[in-house]
Amino acid sequence: MNAFTKLGLSESLTQPLKQLGYSQATEIQQLSIPPIIAQRDVLASAQTGSGKTAAFVLPLLDRLQQTKPGKGRPIRVLCLAPTRELAQQIDDNIALFIGELPLRHAVIYGGVPINQQIRKIGNGVDFLIATPGRLLDLLAQKELDLSQIETLVLDEADRMLDQGFQDQIQKVLNQLPKQRQNLLFSATFNAQITSFTDGLLHDPVIVQSQRLNKAADNVKLIIYEVEQNEKSDIIYYLLANNKQQCLVFARTRRNANLADAYLREKGMSCAAIHSDKSQHQRTQTLQKFKDGEIQILVATDIAARGLDIEQLPLVINYDIPRRAEDYVHRIGRTGRAGMQGVAISLMGGDERGNVAAIEKLIQKQIFIAAIPYIDGENKFEYDSEIIAAGNSIQVRKNNKANRIAKRRKNTKPGKRRS
Ligand code: AMP
Repeated sequence: MNAFTKLGLSESLTQPLKQLGYSQATEIQQLSIPPIIAQRDVLASAQTGSGKTAAFVLPLLDRLQQTKPGKGRPIRVLCLAPTRELAQQIDDNIALFIGELPLRHAVIYGGVPINQQIRKIGNGVDFLIATPGRLLDLLAQKELDLSQIETLVLDEADRMLDQGFQDQIQKVLNQLPKQRQNLLFSATFNAQITSFTDGLLHDPVIVQSQRLNKAADNVKLIIYEVEQNEKSDIIYYLLANNKQQCLVFARTRRNANLADAYLREKGMSCAAIHSDKSQHQRTQTLQKFKDGEIQILVATDIAARGLDIEQLPLVINYDIPRRAEDYVHRIGRTGRAGMQGVAISLMGGDERGNVAAIEKLIQKQIFIAAIPYIDGENKFEYDSEIIAAGNSIQVRKNNKANRIAKRRKNTKPGKRRS
């Protein structure tokens, strides 16, 4: 018996997991797999990067392979995700887990030709992953039948149930059979969506593998106080002297483009993804970043949730997200699967309020550090050791960073605020 069969999963499904390096089940997997097998509704909060995809995919695949589908191979599991990139990633994971099993899966999202998706669904699919917009398009075109759905999964459930998506989700729910299993997974939950979940879930098992809305302990959180117009410059200096990969988050497409253009002009290996880019560009750029061909990826919050980028050491927030929950997701791109990570946030003067909201959510003060630099060379140097040292960082004497340091009179560099 291995760690996964002990949880009730079949040998045929768990055998290939060893090759994927899954020797132990993570906490969220240990807690979620048994109730999902027992066909209970589940509301699960798990730290980002803690293995939540496998926590719902594995038991669902096991049920699919053990029970017979209805007539005409209907879609039996529907998983909704807020971004195309996350939907694609879940599908990629499913492909790995399915291996040689005779199960079919498909992913549908907008921005790519619809006909290919229609063909694939037409051939019969057991497990469908979708973003809500394209799913509704296909429903409107009568290309999809969701009347045999046995399980609905909402990944990044708080985002799926917030106001931006609620109407679309409601329309999808109207197409599903009343009798079904509902699984809600997220790293963050806010009070706003609780009323919606109350109506959605039936006697749910509440799974909480870590404190809700928590920043991972293995991610070092740092703030640099800067001027808005210095942000791209600071990112450049932080990254110019090292080869580490970095994901830079910007609140708007405009800021993402500004940072991307600045860094590229400086000769950095950089690209941007946001909703103005074509889906082809988004997919290609993300893949290049995952493959290590690009050092810096600048992205809006479309890349904040769920994306799994192996061994990403550093996230920089070009600006502070407006929604505190987005901070937890953004920084969750680093420090995944137990690795160490650093998350630096560049805070302009008008962003203090947003930081306060984040600190309240994560119940933690974020360390305000001096901007590290190499004395005499007038250069910043990013180094996690230097950042860890905190107090030993010097502040530049006669340049921008010095001005910044002066403004920080009340918040001494390298000290926690009181
Ligand atoms: P997720 O939170 O689902 O995005 O997973 C985060 C990362 O952890 C992914 O790279 C998974 O492949 C990996 N992972 C998930 N479960 C396990 C496990 N039991 N053992 C080792 N790695 C895992």
